[in-house]
Amino acid sequence: MDNTWATALGFRALDAGVDYCVQALTKYVGGHSDLLMGAVSTRDVAAYHALRDTAELLGYYVAPDECFLALRGLPTLALRLERQYASALRIATFLQSHAAISQVNYPPRPGDTYHHLWQRDFKLGNGLLSFTLRQNDMQAIENFVAALQLFTLGNSWGGVHSLVAVAPQRATSSGWLLRLHVGVEQADDLLADLAQALTVLEG
Ligand SMILES: *Cc1c(COP(=O)(O)O)cnc(C)c1O
Repeated sequence: MDNTWATALGFRALDAGVDYCVQALTKYVGGHSDLLMGAVSTRDVAAYHALRDTAELLGYYVAPDECFLALRGLPTLALRLERQYASALRIATFLQSHAAISQVNYPPRPGDTYHHLWQRDFKLGNGLLSFTLRQNDMQAIENFVAALQLFTLGNSWGGVHSLVAVAPQRATSSGWLLRLHVGVEQADDLLADLAQALTVLEG
């Protein structure tokens, strides 16, 4: 399974019976938006050798500079995630209660449709959540995104800065999904930024 969202701190994939756990270290482990690297882990020796042989055959190696960046990020992973989780929980709760918003997707939030599954299997939340607005007008959504000061446009999440991304919803044919990556900025500032941008949207 791909455990990039939770990291090993949030979900113990191998303990849950997963054979191979894949993680984009680019995201939370690197943590500073300047690393491209991935990891596959397994605890089965035969599976490890099969993986190792395949990686060697394909010529997959990691450069020392990338290892340096991953090792720089790793010691602060828990600190960053705890902060990002706490801020994202406040933001998800705020968004859920806002009249302009129809749905918030963030399983660590009590009240989320999938909170019971998250609670059963996960030890820690993170800073990634998405939501849909009641209105679907693209111009209004563009105005909202442009009004945000602390959430800048970006796709590769996991760093210390907050990001926003807009994507068509995959589940339904209409509507736009907005994704937030909550960084390590002050949660009060992030909440104020979202609140003022939502005022622009409603205006
Ligand atoms: C970003 C991402 C990847 C790919 O990571 P890269 O290092 O950017 O190639 C894989 N899985 C998930 C869930 C991701 O978010």
